[in-house]
Order: sequence, then C-alpha cells, then structure tokens
Amino acid sequence: MKFHRTFLSLALGLLTIALGLHAQGAPRLVVVLVVDQMRADYLQTFDRHWQGGFRTLLNEGLVFESARYPYLDTLTCTGHSTIGTGALPHTHGMVANTWWDRDRQQLVGCTTDPDSPDISYGRPARQGNSGKPLLVPTLADELRTQKHGARVVTMSLKARSAIGLAGHGGDAVVWFDDDAGSFATSRAFSAAPVPAVKAFIDAHPFEKDNGVSWTLSAPANSYIMPDAGIGERPPGPWSGLFPHVIAGRSGVDAQFAQLWQASPRSDAYLEGLAESLIDSFMLGQRDTTDFLGISFSALDEVGHSFGPRSREIEDVLRQLDVALQRLIAHLDGKVGRANYVLALSADHGVAPIAMAPAGGRIANEDVREHVEEVLSTQFGALEHGSYIATANFTDLVLAPGVFERLKASPDAMAAVQQSLKSIPGIEHVLRNDQLSETSSNSVIKAAALSYHPNRSGDVTLVPRKYWYFSPRTGSGTTHGTLHDYDQHVPLIFFGGAIRARRDRTPVTPADIAPTLARFAGVQLSKAEGKALMKTEP
Ligand SMILES: [Zn+2]
Repeated sequence: MKFHRTFLSLALGLLTIALGLHAQGAPRLVVVLVVDQMRADYLQTFDRHWQGGFRTLLNEGLVFESARYPYLDTLTCTGHSTIGTGALPHTHGMVANTWWDRDRQQLVGCTTDPDSPDISYGRPARQGNSGKPLLVPTLADELRTQKHGARVVTMSLKARSAIGLAGHGGDAVVWFDDDAGSFATSRAFSAAPVPAVKAFIDAHPFEKDNGVSWTLSAPANSYIMPDAGIGERPPGPWSGLFPHVIAGRSGVDAQFAQLWQASPRSDAYLEGLAESLIDSFMLGQRDTTDFLGISFSALDEVGHSFGPRSREIEDVLRQLDVALQRLIAHLDGKVGRANYVLALSADHGVAPIAMAPAGGRIANEDVREHVEEVLSTQFGALEHGSYIATANFTDLVLAPGVFERLKASPDAMAAVQQSLKSIPGIEHVLRNDQLSETSSNSVIKAAALSYHPNRSGDVTLVPRKYWYFSPRTGSGTTHGTLHDYDQHVPLIFFGGAIRARRDRTPVTPADIAPTLARFAGVQLSKAEGKALMKTEP
C-alpha cells in the first residue's frame, strides 16, 4: 500500500513536470472582463452598433452562445466569485451580496471584513473589505501561488466585483467606496495606497467630470430603443430623456458620485486606469502569467434605473464597445495578442421592468410582515423583538429557535408556507431541508447550488417569471432569479491561439476559470466548472 502511494506520487511528479514543460506556451497575461448585468441577448439586439471591442471579440473570438448560471441567486457577488474561482456559490460561499450573519445577528456584505480597513485614494474611508468570506481560492490566487512573480490587478466600481475576481490578495485591487466618495482598496491587499494607482487617480481626478452632460454618442435616429421607456426610475434629478447632467447638488457630493457611476464616464475611467496599470505593473510583459480583471459597473447602475429596453443601456454599451477596443489595442501593443488570453462575460442579466399584472415587485418588507403576522397567530404575539431575522430577497431567515419550533409543529409550518405562497409573484417555497444539489427538479437544484448552511435562509423563496424581490423603495428593475433573462450571459474567449468560432454547447461562467487555468498551466482544486478547450492556445 505504502509502495503504491510512493509510486503514485512519483508518477504525479513526472506528470507535473510534463505539464510544466507544456505550460511553457502559457499566456503571459490572463484578462477577465465582466460587464455587470450584461444579458446574452444584448450582443444580438445591438449587433448593428458594434464597431469596436464587441465586434472584434465576436469576429475573432470563441463565442459560447448558451452560457447560463446554473443557480438561483444571480447577483453581483455570486457571479464575480463564480467567474473568479470556477466554483458555485454553495462551495465558494458568496451566496448573495448580503447575508444574515447568525453569530452577529445582522446583515453583512459579502466582502465585509472589519479586520481589513479600507484605504482610500481620496476622502477618508470607514469600512473594511477583503476576500476572507470567499471560501475557495480564485484563479488569480492560484496564479500568485503557482506562477513565480505573477501579479494580480483588478478594478471595478464595486468592492465585491474587484474582490471576487482577485480573491485573497493582489498587487492592485481597486474599487469605488460610495461612503467615502473615492476610489479605495483595503489592508487585505496593500498596507498603503498603491503608488501606481494613486498616480493615475491624482492625474485624472474623476471629480473633474462634475457638471458634464451624458449625451448620446451617435445620432438619435440610430438607436433601437426609445428614449422615454415606460416604468423607468431615473436616479436623482435625471429624467427619462437625454441629456443627463452629471452634477452634484452642491459640487462634488454623493449625488455627483452616484450619477457619475451611472454613466459611461465611469467605464471609460476604469479602462484608462487599466491601460495605466498594464504599463506600470508591466502586466504580461515578463516571464510569468499575470492576471488583469476589470468589471465594468455602469451598465448595472443604468440597467436598474432604466431597464433593459432603454436608450440609456444602449448608449452605455455603444460607449463600452469603444472603450473595449482601446483596451484590446493597448493589450495588442504592449503584450501582443499571441501572449494573452481574454475572457468576457457578465455576473448576471436583468429582468424587464415589471408590468402588472404580468409581473411585479415582491417587497422584502411585505414578506417579512406577512410571515410575522402568521407566526404571531400561531405562536402568540411577541411583546418585543420579532420572529424573523430578515427577509432578504430569496432568503427568509427566522429568529434563533423559530425554525426548530416550526419543524416541531407541522400545522404552523404549513401555515407559514401557505402564507408565503399566497404572496403574488412567489412560485415556490422551499425549506432548507428540501434542497438537493443532485435533484432532478431544476428549481430545487438551482436553489441548492445557491445555498450555504451558515449564510442562507431557513426558507428559500423562488419568484415567478417577471417578478423580482426588491425593497419597497427599490429601483426600476433588478435581477437575482433563475429565469433566463437573469441566468443567460455572454461568454467569449479571445487572444492567444484561440480561433473564431460559435459554439452552442451549454456551458456556465464557472467554466471560465478552469479554462483559463488550463491555458496558464495552473491547478484549481475547488473548481466545479470544466475547461472548455482541450488544447493550449
Ligand atoms: Zn445589479
């Protein structure tokens, strides 16, 4: 037995050497681009517009047309962590943007970490963020571990996006801190502001955009979508009609920062920062495999407000098309197309703006109050406190001990489930003991892949098509369900020796990291996706 083990490890060692030799053809740079909230159908709907990066990727890349998230909670943190690790939420643990921390009895953000104070590139930051809640290593983590001298650079407007791609470390991990109104990183990634990032931000203050207008980037009659869509909820002082003035109430303030993020200016800014960091970190220009991750957030901000059939999202994408071409040109010039591989995808899609009676908003507050009333009838009214910890989108978390009481009282449990099913828009009510990752029922399976016992609800709620969970005062539309408009996203590989091809094989964004890992010749021990190409580029 012992001899066999020794023999096995010797064989594995030889195999590793063989792979190591093979990996000499590894790319010098892996680029992961995420377009927050980009649905797969946008590539076709707006096809006539593409003259830049999207055209290049569609013409010269390997385009997977049937890429879908296989899980229920299609959210930013879940999507980026899935792309970053190749694992699914039940394994990587990033089950939502926020979840109920049962020890602290409070809602926490998916990257919240008080032990990793934020470091601001501008006004003081007060939060703390890190990849500590991410339970498995990312591809970027494995590159840092397995590739000598590999550098990791990621950026987004959102901490959960930059961190989901980077993971547990990195040379420059940059996001926008809404509270501070400035770009930031945290102690988890750097002891002090990263000089190259600070140099770019100091030289290009985003605040100088205060007062500029977001105008259409092409003649109005070239747009497919109407300007005044029905059901739009524009942010702040904006109307549903162009132009949109990006200005604060009183100079550079929170309103300005919000409007700036919800405009194509923020995507262009991140692209400029990326070019600058490619140069200063010499990404892809040394004898190793570096990682560059960029998550463009503007589409998500705009999509929530104006919906998927708006001129606003059309123009964000047209301007992103231009920014992506600049990025590709810069990569081609500095790294060489043969020396990098690039993957583009999205963290989730988005629902059409709900229109009664065919669809609508399921308010978190309504769910909470509905169940509170039923439990008060069943178990008696509470003098203080609540039977419910939180009703947080698809997750209903009961106060400590309440779920156990319900399990011991089938009539009360049935009453709660019945009351939840009576809420318009809720199609399925699943107790956590009903979830199974191997179920042949696609709804149960999708909910199970989104479930982590320490972080998810006692009960999972699944909305009907065209219904979504949202706070009462929520935005125009949102995502976060298992319906196709939320799950179906673009997935394109490009660069290296990748040849232009269309592929309709069903795949998932969890396949991105394993595919890139194979190119780079690194191992991903916790990945659940699979490498989509058999040969190295
Ligand atoms: Zn979103």
